[in-house]
Amino acid sequence: MGLLYTKMKMFHFKEKIDSLSKESDKILPPLHIRIKPTNVCGHNCKYCAYRVDNLQLGKDMNVGDYIPKEKMMEIVDDIEEMGVKAITFSGGGDPFYYPYLLDTVKRLAKANIKFASLTNGSKLSGEIAEIFAHKAIWLRISIDGWDDESYSTYRSVPIGEFTKIMNNMEHFKKLKGKCYLGVSLIVDRQNAGQVYKFIRRLKDVGADSVKVSPCIVSNDGDENNVYHQPIFNRVKELVHKAIADFSSTSFEIFDSYHALDNKFRKNYDWCPYLQILPIIGADSNIYPCQDKAYNLDEGLIGSIKDQRFKNFWFSGKSKFFKINPSKVCNHHCVANEKNKMILEYLNADKIHLEFV
Ligand code: SF4
Repeated sequence: MGLLYTKMKMFHFKEKIDSLSKESDKILPPLHIRIKPTNVCGHNCKYCAYRVDNLQLGKDMNVGDYIPKEKMMEIVDDIEEMGVKAITFSGGGDPFYYPYLLDTVKRLAKANIKFASLTNGSKLSGEIAEIFAHKAIWLRISIDGWDDESYSTYRSVPIGEFTKIMNNMEHFKKLKGKCYLGVSLIVDRQNAGQVYKFIRRLKDVGADSVKVSPCIVSNDGDENNVYHQPIFNRVKELVHKAIADFSSTSFEIFDSYHALDNKFRKNYDWCPYLQILPIIGADSNIYPCQDKAYNLDEGLIGSIKDQRFKNFWFSGKSKFFKINPSKVCNHHCVANEKNKMILEYLNADKIHLEFV
């Protein structure tokens, strides 16, 4: 298997990268869209960035919002026509709680558009599990608690939910589809000591990979680092030991547990990545990224409530330059490193290009 999390994937789409700047008069479709079909979720994770009050992410989110079925089908028609290459379903809520997810993914599969989803795994069963197993490219389950009791504490769910999710994962892999099953293990002070043993358990239930990431507790990078400082070395040690003992050609462990400040401060004034991977929210608004979703003051690019997505996207370029990251994005941002790479690429001096 090739590199899954490399930042270089976008450079396989050179025409798109070359179209991003203000100077280019081209607007090309997004390569990939994250759709948040619903804000409803059956779990109530204590650290959920969309629901806690101290993070800017999700500050204007309505938990009952979802994309109406007709609008979703219209979006799928548009992205097929536009040539969008991939869709990821994510929260707000849990995409598997969206009542029209099955209809939507059947349409995507028919249109040969690649799709994937994040989920808590509690509804990963029946026909929706079958279609994901055989048609989706990947599925990623977010987990924190390592047994029934701890899981219930993290998520305010009844005892037994953890066991159900482990069983769902195991059953999903037995469907023998090609869908890559990843787990996102969110590490905080409570589960830090469990990392090694829990990765082993996840391998045993059949996960293809585990990505270990820090729990985000603040908009401020330094405050996050202060929070993680007492557990940082211990977690690194456990992850490295897990990599040494458990990783193989069929089970990968991604160590994304790192200090956070390099993802927080921005010194550029436009965001190229928002034209590559924008968000369609459950409120039918368009946002630049998953770190600015449901922030109406600083993150709203537009709305498709009363217009089609394709019409919105191709109607002029100025909307893509409304957000000045150096002013409003000095918080966690998954695209920061990619933005810096694109800007450096676009800013290369044209006269000196050949002097490589
Ligand atoms: S700079 Fe980062 S946080 Fe800001 S809009 Fe772009 S991707 Fe989102």
